[in-house]
Amino acid sequence: MSKKNKFFFMDCSAAAICCDKAQYQEANFFEKIKLSFHLLLCKTCRKFSSRNRRLTDLMEDAKLKTCSEEQKKQWKENIKKEYSGQRTS
Ligand SMILES: [Zn+2]
Repeated sequence: MSKKNKFFFMDCSAAAICCDKAQYQEANFFEKIKLSFHLLLCKTCRKFSSRNRRLTDLMEDAKLKTCSEEQKKQWKENIKKEYSGQRTS
């Protein structure tokens, strides 16, 4: 990879970190641009990113509701399902 490309394209580990940052609105504009580029080109990270997104949604969901024990149980089940479903592919 040339220097110029490296400027625009982060590697997978950097993309994963950036994904997490973007999720919590901690990534700056330039990081988000680079991340989008990477996600366009890298199938692995795209998958990681969408799984991350869904987990965050689940957590947001749980936070919004007043959590009963039953709901917490349900939430944990959802997350467990989410992980086990992805592991095989
Ligand atoms: Zn990647």
